[in-house]
Amino acid sequence: MKKILITGGAGFIGSNFVHYMLNKYLNYSIVNLDLLTYAGNLETLKEVQDKPNYKFVRGDISDREHVYKLFEEEKFDIAVNFAAESHVDRSVENPQLFIQTNIIGTQVLLDACRKYGIKRYHQVSTDEVYGDLPIDRRDLFFTEKSAINPSSPYSASKTAADLLVNSYYRTYGLPTTISRCSNNYGPYHFPEKLIPLMILNAFEDKQLPVYGNGENIRDWLHVYDHCTAVDLIIHKGKIGEVYNIGGHNERSNIEVVKTILNILGKSEDLISYVNDRPGHDLRYAIDPSKIENELGWKAKYDFDSGIKETVKWYIEHEYWWKSVLSV
Ligand code: NAD
Repeated sequence: MKKILITGGAGFIGSNFVHYMLNKYLNYSIVNLDLLTYAGNLETLKEVQDKPNYKFVRGDISDREHVYKLFEEEKFDIAVNFAAESHVDRSVENPQLFIQTNIIGTQVLLDACRKYGIKRYHQVSTDEVYGDLPIDRRDLFFTEKSAINPSSPYSASKTAADLLVNSYYRTYGLPTTISRCSNNYGPYHFPEKLIPLMILNAFEDKQLPVYGNGENIRDWLHVYDHCTAVDLIIHKGKIGEVYNIGGHNERSNIEVVKTILNILGKSEDLISYVNDRPGHDLRYAIDPSKIENELGWKAKYDFDSGIKETVKWYIEHEYWWKSVLSV
């Protein structure tokens, strides 16, 4: 029996992780701490809300008093921090919220772990901490040793959090791990991010806005594969280590959009090129050798099968995306 704190468990990846863990570990007890910002939705957790080994707590990870009280009451074995402000465009508009949640929130969680004890604190980070790679050097990949070089207020805030986590390991011996994953897609993804936005716009015959010339490259990973990787790291990952997570599924944004249109049988005339995002990263590409070789992780999905399944999921779960968009 283990008690696990999952923060941000009402968001895209966190909710997938809650479902994954409750399915896999029947003897674990999960507490989900989430503020329910625009990105968090309890509709996503309806299936599990009455399980005796699952509890939802609404709260802010940067609210020290609340977080300490929760740690004192629950005595967690493991804490996994998914809670974050996660949308780059929003960070360009309003960086302050990103500093508060992503940095201060992480610090409060780390302090709580120190004060009340923990067997493992895991920080869910992003490949965006490495900045970007050139589009014309497809031989280059981010490894755990790549320089930290974030471009946006979002990625800078995630980087600061990673550095704090590492400092708590080095300074206080807190048992921490960090994972840096590439772009995720799959069920329960809020329709402001590229893939769900394009699926829903195409579905409703609306314009598909693509930044710049659409040539920016992302390395896509199905959210299920992210969950299996975090599961492995919290159980077998070496304390103090960083693990990159990615499945070698690089696609340009325009390729992704055309694939979605093709799956839905819609015309490419729906594509509309819009002014590029300021500071737009060119290419992300992960080298996952470390987690593959040291922990035996392997992605299950390739992009072509994963995206077909995801489009189907959105078609079949209209009630979900209509409900999250209506809040
Ligand atoms: P999301 O925006 O879908 O969900 C974030 C969740 O955190 C929401 O439920 C929100 O209500 C909650 N939250 C926000 N502020 C909070 C606060 N102060 N206190 C408590 N809860 C709060 O994000 P996501 O896409 O699921 O990303 C989860 C994590 O994974 C983030 O840390 C992100 O940086 C990281 N990540 C995401 C991707 C991706 O492609 N989406 C890739 C790599 C890493």
